[in-house]
Amino acid sequence: MPSKSPRRQLVASILGAALVLAAGQLPALSAEPFSAEPWRETAEKLVARARADRLAWARLAELTDTFGHRLAGSAALEAAFAWARARMQEDGLENVRLEPVMVPRWVRGRESAALVEPFPGELAMLGLGDSVGTGPEGITAEVLVVRSFEDLEARAELAKGRIVFFDVPFTSYGETVRYRGRGASAAARHGARAVLIRSVGPMGLRTPHTGGLRYEEGAPRIPAAALAVEDAQRLRRIHERGQRIVLRLSMEAQLHPDVASANLVAEIRGRERPDEIVLLGGHFDSWDVGTGAMDDGGGCAVTWEALRLVKALGLRPRRTLRVVLFTNEENGLRGGLAYRDAHAGSAANHVLALESDNGAFKPTGFDFTGSDAARAQVAAIARLLEPIGAGAVGPGGGGADIGPIALLGNIPTMSPQTENDAYFLYHHTPADTLERLDPAHVTDLAAAIAVMAYVVADLPARLGE
Ligand SMILES: [Zn+2]
Repeated sequence: MPSKSPRRQLVASILGAALVLAAGQLPALSAEPFSAEPWRETAEKLVARARADRLAWARLAELTDTFGHRLAGSAALEAAFAWARARMQEDGLENVRLEPVMVPRWVRGRESAALVEPFPGELAMLGLGDSVGTGPEGITAEVLVVRSFEDLEARAELAKGRIVFFDVPFTSYGETVRYRGRGASAAARHGARAVLIRSVGPMGLRTPHTGGLRYEEGAPRIPAAALAVEDAQRLRRIHERGQRIVLRLSMEAQLHPDVASANLVAEIRGRERPDEIVLLGGHFDSWDVGTGAMDDGGGCAVTWEALRLVKALGLRPRRTLRVVLFTNEENGLRGGLAYRDAHAGSAANHVLALESDNGAFKPTGFDFTGSDAARAQVAAIARLLEPIGAGAVGPGGGGADIGPIALLGNIPTMSPQTENDAYFLYHHTPADTLERLDPAHVTDLAAAIAVMAYVVADLPARLGE
């Protein structure tokens, strides 16, 4: 057989490449598709260690039992930060520090709502965060029941002097939360004296849901509160019988001047590229009901535990792992904004930002926002988590606290994907306690975050490159 001429070799190699491409593979000269297999053994160790220690769960229990709920501006939140800081130092995490943030201090005080007409009776209510109070006399007024903003506009002349009640059934959070946010100002523009909303959540066990409102410029600030779904439906039925409803609303709520708080930061410095950062976190503040175990003590516990697991195994990735427990997500987002401002110079050095704030439930994978190349790598890393059922990668990752820095630095964002169907049942209610979560699920979520964060931080080239 004569040897092939160079030209025939070239033709053969082009044909060969075409055949390889046709078979769905990459040509030999191109880069291999990214594989996370080199990290499989490490991933297994992280999962095994998480399951052996169950420390995220133990700490979440200690946090919520010891300090209870942790609204921004409260002594409980600051005491909890001091506790977590000391524990992080015991864990051997690096650069453990409190970065100062000024936060609002809203104090609920005593509050109540009661039917006066057509018959007397207490209603299950919670004032909305940042609401003004009613004054010591309370507000007694006839109720105008409306179904939507459009309904209010259509009957605007009836709102003057009344308590406007937005009785809007819960569909999705994004759809219904508008009434919590804007309802007070919308009604105040038409002369209403106070606002009630149906709680933003599904049917519960007569648990009202609090949450922040936003007063708009140019509208009088009037008190606003949420009724439990059962109480909202009771008012609706009375209204549909044609009976006039008079309520008495009494709220001591007050917004005080800003006070000092902080974001708690801890790191494992990278061994090769310490200036490049994989950011993890949740928000340490909560509403002033329940113990904030689900929203968002759990998110803090699992992201902190991710670093602790890496440290406990003696691992040090190429890049820096940083956990931030943010302050004041619930009624101000001051923590997320302060982080952005304090780290603006290194915003572009953030390789990935992950926030866990959708409940520390059974992990199924991650939701991710970023380039296609980065997504392919994330999907390959997630395959390491298939053994624990957390291998899925979906769209739309992100979080409120990481939002500002991610926007500034054009950073890929991620959030854990979990079986969180019950999230809005407990969200912002007195029922947000440890019992809503499962130790095995919290443990596996911490493990999944540890694996994802560690491998992204340890990639030879930056995520997406
Ligand atoms: Zn939250």
